[in-house]
Order: sequence, then C-alpha cells, then structure tokens
Amino acid sequence: MRTFIAGLLVCWCLFPSVADAQERVGVERLLQHVEVLAHDSLQGRDAGTEGAAMARTYLREQLDGLDLQTFDGGLEQRFTFTHRRAEEEREGVNLMAYIEGQVVPDTFIVVTAHYDHLGAQDGDIYNGADDNASGTAALLEAARYFTQHPTDYSLLLLFLDAEEHGLRGARAFVADPPVAREQLRLNVNMDMISRNPADELYAVGTHHYPRLRPVLEAVGARHAIDLLFGYDQPDHPEQDDWTMASDHGAFHEVGIPFVYFGVEDHPGYHDPSDTFENITPDFFVQAAELMLDALQELDAQLPTVAPNVTK
Ligand SMILES: [Zn+2]
Repeated sequence: MRTFIAGLLVCWCLFPSVADAQERVGVERLLQHVEVLAHDSLQGRDAGTEGAAMARTYLREQLDGLDLQTFDGGLEQRFTFTHRRAEEEREGVNLMAYIEGQVVPDTFIVVTAHYDHLGAQDGDIYNGADDNASGTAALLEAARYFTQHPTDYSLLLLFLDAEEHGLRGARAFVADPPVAREQLRLNVNMDMISRNPADELYAVGTHHYPRLRPVLEAVGARHAIDLLFGYDQPDHPEQDDWTMASDHGAFHEVGIPFVYFGVEDHPGYHDPSDTFENITPDFFVQAAELMLDALQELDAQLPTVAPNVTK
C-alpha cells in the first residue's frame, strides 16, 4: 500500500494540475463518511445520546489522522442544551480544530457542519444522511485537503452538535469562541448538500452580505452543478427565509457574515427516508468540490468579501 501511494505521489508531483484534480475530494472517503454516520447503529445521532457519541468517535478517528492544530481547550467544546422532546437539560459536544493560515494566521474562516440529527422515534430511525452527514463528510474532506493546501487565513473546522435543538452548538460556540470573536471573519456553513435530482445547490446569505455574491457567482460558473442564490430575504412571496434555518444563523446574530450551502427541501427532509441509499452521489461529489473551490476563493478575497464588521 505504501509503495503504491509513493508511486502515485511521484506521478502527481510531475503533473500538479492532475494532482489537484485527483486529490481535491476523495470520493470513496466522502461516501464512506456518510454511510457510517447515517448507519442504523448510530440511531439518528440525536444530541446527548450514545449515537451522537458514536458519531464523535468516528469524527475523532478521522481527524486524528490529519495534521490539524487544536486550541488550548482541546478538540471538544462542551455545553448544555434543553432537549426538545425529553424537555430536560443534556450535554452537547462540538468538535473543533484549525489549519493555520500562511499569511494572516490570527484571522479565521469558520467552516461548519452539524453532525447531530433527530434520533429515533416511534420505531423509526431518522438516519440524517443528507441532514447532515453530507455536510459533515464534506467538512472532513475539506480538512484533509486544506492540510495539504493551506489557505492565507486560518480555517477553523467546526463540527457542531444540537443544531436540531435550536442551533445550540453554534450558539455555544459564538458565545464562547476559542479566540476573540473579532478574529472570526466569515462562516461557511454546509447543511444538506448530497441530494438534489436537478443538480441545484443554493448559496444563501448574499442578500445580507452582497459582497460575497460576485465571488460565489464566479465559483458557480466553474462547476457543472447550478449554484443558485436566494432563500435569504424576509417577506419574499415565493421563497422561505433560511437566514436562521441552520447554524449560520448563530453567526449572523452576532454580525459575522455567512454563506450557507444547502439544497431545497426534498421528500427525505426530516423523514426516516433520509438514508445513504437515497442521496445522489454524483451531485454530492460535485457539491463538495464546489465547496473547496468556494473556500479557496473566499480566502483569497477575504478582506473584500468580509470586512471586519463584527459587533
Ligand atoms: Zn440540518
């Protein structure tokens, strides 16, 4: 195996553009992450349950194999939240690490995905393959890619818990970040990126932060799937407003610009049919590729797209 990999590396070094194309997203790994995280044995990864702890064990195993930095408090951030169905206080756990920026290491882009889901109810397992094993898998692969291709600004990789209980992990993070809040310049959130038969992915948030839009339009034009904008305006006659629909809402609340990537609701949304078998793999891989591209471009143009406006 090692010899085989060494041979590939020699080959890739000679053809760096091919290397980039092949290395950006590991397709088998990306799909494996979703298959594992959405497996019945994890019982829907409800925050504060054994299933969520099993998900964390898997994430830690994957992260341990990468050359990541951790903050003084370590990989975990613990917090308490009120469990919606149980109506009791439980403990949630975010996982975070970072990749130091090569030019401006003390300023961070926070890349988020929630790994929790709805758990099991009345004999049904809510596997949450798209919501949000998909974003979690893409975040793992982004971590792998950017350890090899560091950005100018630091990337904070944040696996959030208890999103399904009201963005609780994200709110715990912005209330007590591991660095000063002013150092968090932008949030890129992924939640449901693996299932769309029309090859359409939404970038949400440019209504609030219009400087992001030209950069994202340029990224979208380079990819086969359609990157659409919207779902971020109050009082829109035909579209819901997703500004507070996932963890990016917690960043927006404190004035940190965000872009949220996700698909339109589908029959599997918050349904037991949100399984690994029902994702659309080709779309998912392309969405993950687009995400890496977007992160690179946003990093390259960060002072322009996200001037320091935190409050
Ligand atoms: Zn979600």
